[in-house]
Amino acid sequence: MANRAYNFNAGPAALPLEVLRQAQEQFVEFEGTGMSLMEMSHRGKVYESVHYEAEKLLRELAGIPDGYKVLFLQGGASTQFAMVPMNLAAPGRKAAYVHTGAWAGKAIKEAKLFSEVAIAASTEADAFMRIPSADELNIPDNAAYLHLTSNETIGGTQWAEYPDTGSVPLVADMSSDILCRPLNVSQFGLIYAGAQKNLGPSGVTIVIVREDLIGQPAQPVPTMLQFATHAKSDSLYNTPPTFAVYMVNLVLKWLKDKGGTAAMERINREKAGLLYQEIDGSGGFYRGCAQAGSRSLMNVTFRMANEELEKQFVKESEAAGFVGLKGHRDVGGLRASIYNAVPLESVQALASFMRDFKQRNG
Ligand SMILES: *Cc1c(COP(=O)(O)O)cnc(C)c1O
Repeated sequence: MANRAYNFNAGPAALPLEVLRQAQEQFVEFEGTGMSLMEMSHRGKVYESVHYEAEKLLRELAGIPDGYKVLFLQGGASTQFAMVPMNLAAPGRKAAYVHTGAWAGKAIKEAKLFSEVAIAASTEADAFMRIPSADELNIPDNAAYLHLTSNETIGGTQWAEYPDTGSVPLVADMSSDILCRPLNVSQFGLIYAGAQKNLGPSGVTIVIVREDLIGQPAQPVPTMLQFATHAKSDSLYNTPPTFAVYMVNLVLKWLKDKGGTAAMERINREKAGLLYQEIDGSGGFYRGCAQAGSRSLMNVTFRMANEELEKQFVKESEAAGFVGLKGHRDVGGLRASIYNAVPLESVQALASFMRDFKQRNG
């Protein structure tokens, strides 16, 4: 497709072209039903088969063992910032959080509305440009859970390995890196992810939760905000975001077709490697933001000597067909978001643009 942009948007983000094409083909009439999928009941057989297939594919691709529920919810990952403490907090026990940047900070803010919060570790002193090591974590013994942000989409840091939290349930916001690599779900009590970075379009949020954590919350919680409500009804308590779930279904099929998470990790490492190599080999022309060992496979953040040069980079990159390279307003600089669906060719084109830009301006 000649006019498809090199899309490095942070979220909503690139979707696989094959998925868009298939959705287009099925858009007006879904599988001989005489209507689009959006026009039919979520209680009917046709939608149900899409819904349950999406769950089955996710179970298979993420390796979700028995004893975990998969939920399709609305409200984005931001609603999970509140739903997690509303449902998992307990009187007399602290909710522990690792503060690694913008998204962790937002989760902490919501948790404070419902629970006493303990900051198990914070990398604020390093401008959040690193992930703490496991031995920096200070988790209160009877903590209700430990929350971490798997990938800080804005800063460009990512947990390379998750800490062992023993009997304290580990809760992870994987909005921007779910299924970017193989996952050991049994390490977690709960995982949540808004779909619009690595799984599909906006409008649906995935929650993977261990069954023993789905109980009666210790405090009054609205029906729609209780995990139990959605777990009991297979996420069909009320109308689910049917089209978004359908798109996630297609993305998961695409992912399976590509070889699953192990294959994704290989290609994601290759993609990220190309950009970090360009940064590290630039003799200081480009400076990576995240510290070595904490660098994200999904969001590559970097700076240049001054804002003028960064602005020029953004302007020239846009003229050359690149989209979404301007860094988040909180951090500045530049950011290339290279989620699963961003093709290797886009990343190769960016690496070569970076080299060329340096040659002209270095
Ligand atoms: C984008 C993002 C969110 C917010 O997601 P919404 O679905 O917009 O609420 C939360 N956490 C992380 C890590 C994100 O990247």
